[in-house]
Amino acid sequence: MPSAIPPARPGVLAALFDALPADCIRLGAEIGVRHHTDWTGMDPQCPLALLLPRSTEQVSTMLRICHAHSQPVVAQGGLTGLVGGAHARAHEIALSLERMDAIDPVDTSGGTVCVQAGAVLQAVQQAAEAAGFVCGLDIGARGSCTIGGNIATNAGGNRVIRYGMARDNVLGLQAVLADGTVVGSLNKLVKNNSGYDLKHLFIGSEGTLGVVTQAVLRLHPQSCSTQCAFLALPGLDAALQVLRDARASLGGTLSAFEVMWPSFYAFVTGLPGMDRPLAGTHGLYLLIEANGSDAGGDAGRFEAMLSRWLEQGLIVDACIAQSLADTARFWALRDAVAEFPVHLPKRSTFDVSFPLDGMAQAVHAIDAEAEAAWPGCTRLYFGHLGDNNLHIVIDVPATQGRHAPEIEAIVYRAVGALQGAVSAEHGIGRKKRQHLSVSRTEAEIATMRQLKAALDPRGILNPDKVL
Ligand SMILES: Cc1cc2nc3c(=O)[nH]c(=O)nc-3n(C[C@H](O)[C@H](O)[C@H](O)COP(=O)(O)OP(=O)(O)OC[C@H]3O[C@@H](n4cnc5c(N)ncnc54)[C@H](O)[C@@H]3O)c2cc1C
Repeated sequence: MPSAIPPARPGVLAALFDALPADCIRLGAEIGVRHHTDWTGMDPQCPLALLLPRSTEQVSTMLRICHAHSQPVVAQGGLTGLVGGAHARAHEIALSLERMDAIDPVDTSGGTVCVQAGAVLQAVQQAAEAAGFVCGLDIGARGSCTIGGNIATNAGGNRVIRYGMARDNVLGLQAVLADGTVVGSLNKLVKNNSGYDLKHLFIGSEGTLGVVTQAVLRLHPQSCSTQCAFLALPGLDAALQVLRDARASLGGTLSAFEVMWPSFYAFVTGLPGMDRPLAGTHGLYLLIEANGSDAGGDAGRFEAMLSRWLEQGLIVDACIAQSLADTARFWALRDAVAEFPVHLPKRSTFDVSFPLDGMAQAVHAIDAEAEAAWPGCTRLYFGHLGDNNLHIVIDVPATQGRHAPEIEAIVYRAVGALQGAVSAEHGIGRKKRQHLSVSRTEAEIATMRQLKAALDPRGILNPDKVL
């Protein structure tokens, strides 16, 4: 249960104004409505104040003062989070990293870049590309989300199968603890086992253990060829065989494996302006992409692999991208999820994981229960299959989202029964707090609470989130 709203903290605003330049603090109507909620649009509220630091030192001063006054603080990045993690309530102070968006020159010797937490992901990707590298992180919200938010949520996304989650792409990190202590190192070393690796405490802890101010990201070599295809498959068993074979055949160059169930394909290809790369209705659709470094041989190997799958009956139809425009058209289908808020405004959405051998059972169980409860309701399934990640959208028309708790019960029952995860990549935030115990044991949650109490004894950082 959320804690009771505490009384206003006497003196905290005066202390902040005394210690900081006045333009670092905004109040009331000066706080743009954008800071009243995150992408979820949940429960908009004007925070007590908005803090806009320009440096780690200012973040430290802000937190030291808030700690002294036991004042709750919510870190905000690009506000694209999908679980209400950056949502600040009226008695809380929002601390936005948006002014801390510097990107250092890429260190081309080691392939690293040091960035401030407020740097927008797309800007970091562009800086990496300009220096001949690839940033391993890529998510649909790239134009707005920040590196700090990506780290705080341990973001996943489109390229996890190739480059891993945010955690796998962070070499060093600087964060400010609740009491203002600056910790962490801007480590560039791949191997550094000098005691506890504290950065992992802050990666994925959603702003509850510290505020990330800077990070060193590991970059990757650029590839020189892209192969992309949109495939139709008989079903999930075939997709799992295709996944195993693609991993073996493509020698580590597999960079996307996006599976779409027929209901998803039918829905997105019906949206205005969308292509329909494959005719007919099939058991499953797959967007597969590989980025290689053998410009002469990659395309031939990729096509030979698809021919083999066709002969083996693992795929039943294929559309191979002949240009970057074709590749963009295929991705537009997958990225059409960004338009779901317009077309299905009251939908329930889920970002869950299942073991691969339980995925078919999970979809079947959820689908059967939803159909039994609300015949004909919209159910869309899609996901980064190689990462166990399934996204689910369930919409019961004309009920204004009234069935959300029952829909959640259906999905999380399946997650619990099949040892899945209630959050694959978006985090827990406020939205999934009450479901954490589906995927974490009592002992794990107790240890999380101990960590929280040790690092933030007054509980000022992002209260009522995650735990
Ligand atoms: C269209 C769309 C597509 C998306 N696709 C994906 C996807 O493929 N994979 C995926 O993982 N997510 C995805 N997301 C979710 C979201 O973009 C990610 O969670 C992203 O990492 C959030 O970054 P942000 O800067 O917007 O953070 P915010 O939303 O501002 O904050 C998110 C959380 O991080 C905390 N936080 C923010 N900055 C800091 C900081 N500097 N220090 C400490 N804590 C901080 C906040 O308190 C909050 O708990 C998508 C969202 C949208 C809207």
